[in-house]
Amino acid sequence: LAFGGLAACGSSDSDGGSDGGGSGGGGKATGKVGVILPDSKSSVRWETQDRPNLEAAFKAAGLESDIQNAEGSPDTFGQLCDQMITEGVKVLIETDLDPDSGKACIDKAKNAGIAVIDYDRLTLGGGADYYVSFDNVKVGALQGQGLIDALKAAGKDKGNIAFINGAATDNNATLFKQGYEQVIKDDGSYTVVGDQTGDWDPDTAGKVFDQFYAAHPDLVGLITANDGMAGGVLAREKAAGVEGKILVTGQDATSEGLANVLQGYQAGTVFKDTSVEAKAAADLAIAIIKGDDPSSIATGSVNDSKLGKDVPSVLATPVWITADTVKDVVAAGQATAADICKGIA
Ligand code: BGC
Repeated sequence: LAFGGLAACGSSDSDGGSDGGGSGGGGKATGKVGVILPDSKSSVRWETQDRPNLEAAFKAAGLESDIQNAEGSPDTFGQLCDQMITEGVKVLIETDLDPDSGKACIDKAKNAGIAVIDYDRLTLGGGADYYVSFDNVKVGALQGQGLIDALKAAGKDKGNIAFINGAATDNNATLFKQGYEQVIKDDGSYTVVGDQTGDWDPDTAGKVFDQFYAAHPDLVGLITANDGMAGGVLAREKAAGVEGKILVTGQDATSEGLANVLQGYQAGTVFKDTSVEAKAAADLAIAIIKGDDPSSIATGSVNDSKLGKDVPSVLATPVWITADTVKDVVAAGQATAADICKGIA
């Protein structure tokens, strides 16, 4: 499936579908898996990538599943948790909204003898049995290096930049920041003049940008922690006529993000192959249900600093995507050329 990039938008090269990622092998096992996704607003990934990828992975494994979305509400999260326990799921996979409601669900599930897998976000202090995610410090480091490389390529060897971080309730946001902050510091060319949360919300991120830009009209770039927030910032940059002049970053390789990368507004995005992440969660769930040793699937561990305990983990590798490599995301089936082209003005 070849995608010719920006020039291909508007030509017949721009259609082409995705099969949503496949999942291989694994013997059949009986037992239901419950999944609670966090929301649909902080990133389109949860509904457009994770849900279909998890469905495909469970289907390939012959597992019954119930995948629900808490839509940003900790109360709904708790209700879904109760419902899944009552339904008799054997494994519960959750992406928390915050450590408190995340831990409350883990506690209830474990009391009911249900194994818990933290999916993408580690619930700090939660005590889940397994964790599946990406190397999230590396995600942040890729964003930092990606911004530096794009700025230097544009002849901006130094200048003021700012951070618009993810939600403070998300452990990943802390890890992403660790990554980009370190890379920017090690490089030493740029001064960080703003550092705030955008709460994983495009509108909030846009407002934070307005504030930074009013105080520092000479900004050369921004770390925006995901594609959704980058989109919110770019809407404000367009209003000020500075899109493409103050580069942003992102992650999730969403169609919108990829379109912004192709148009030169966004330095790049982090491609996290969520079919790999979903397959790892499904493999763990199958092993648990079949009574096999799931620890052979976990490839490492992550320390829960709050519990002072290592959680057996599978961490996939993130990849930085620029305009030249957008086609790789299409080839991997995580975005379609037709959807990307819809985001081109
Ligand atoms: C995920 C990102 C996502 C963000 C907002 C993070 O925990 O790792 O992929 O963009 O949450 O949903």
